[in-house]
Amino acid sequence: MKRKKIAAANWKMNTTVTEGHELLSALVSQDKKDDVDVVICAPCTHLYALSDVVASQDRVQLGAQNMSQHLKGAYTGEVSAHMIKSCKASHVVIGHSERRQHFGEDDQLLSAKLGVALNNDLTPIFCCGESLDIRKSGNHVNHVINQLDTALSPYSADDLRDLVIAYEPIWAIGTGETASPAQAQEMHLAIREFLKKKFGAEMAEHTPILYGGSVKPHNAAELFRNPDVDGGLVGGASLDASGFAQIINSFE
Ligand code: PEP
Repeated sequence: MKRKKIAAANWKMNTTVTEGHELLSALVSQDKKDDVDVVICAPCTHLYALSDVVASQDRVQLGAQNMSQHLKGAYTGEVSAHMIKSCKASHVVIGHSERRQHFGEDDQLLSAKLGVALNNDLTPIFCCGESLDIRKSGNHVNHVINQLDTALSPYSADDLRDLVIAYEPIWAIGTGETASPAQAQEMHLAIREFLKKKFGAEMAEHTPILYGGSVKPHNAAELFRNPDVDGGLVGGASLDASGFAQIINSFE
């Protein structure tokens, strides 16, 4: 089975609406491979304004960077799945390490958010990854598999049919230090084997696993060439239209 190739942009808390509109317009005007799904995870304030740019694009979709576990009510400042969908976004990032680190989101909460995304027809990009200390201790594979086990356990293979996983070693996010292709492949293969054991071969084979952590135009090709790396979740380098287009064009 051929898995989707995905280049997802995480703009984080960058750009105004006008700047974001200009950035996305510049990106869609670049020459890009047509067998790659591009997902732009922009600030929620921008999504509706960006939807007119992606309307004419077959393979470019919008995503939110976070979502409440609640559907509505007295949760000041939160953004619900219905709100995200009403802005014409199709994806949502869940469990980015910056949400885990700065906003105290733990695996149980993230599992609840995952369920809300799945029940509301939003494609979750579920992030996992280890700190530098855990990597140095040699326990990185166990740590990441435990994160996924806790979050995914309440769901069936059928519930998770649209799941996208992003492996993002925390020590590589925004640091300029990238996991080597071998380090990325080791973890992606371990994740796929875990999915196979827990949810069956078919689910494991079709679930895209993205790598994130200082993906740049000069290193994307060697990362994406790995058999279990199905694309990237790209932070800093997605803020430059031609650089991100180069990353999109790095798939073989
Ligand atoms: C990210 O934001 O998920 C990320 C991987 O950032 P960067 O590419 O800047 O390391």
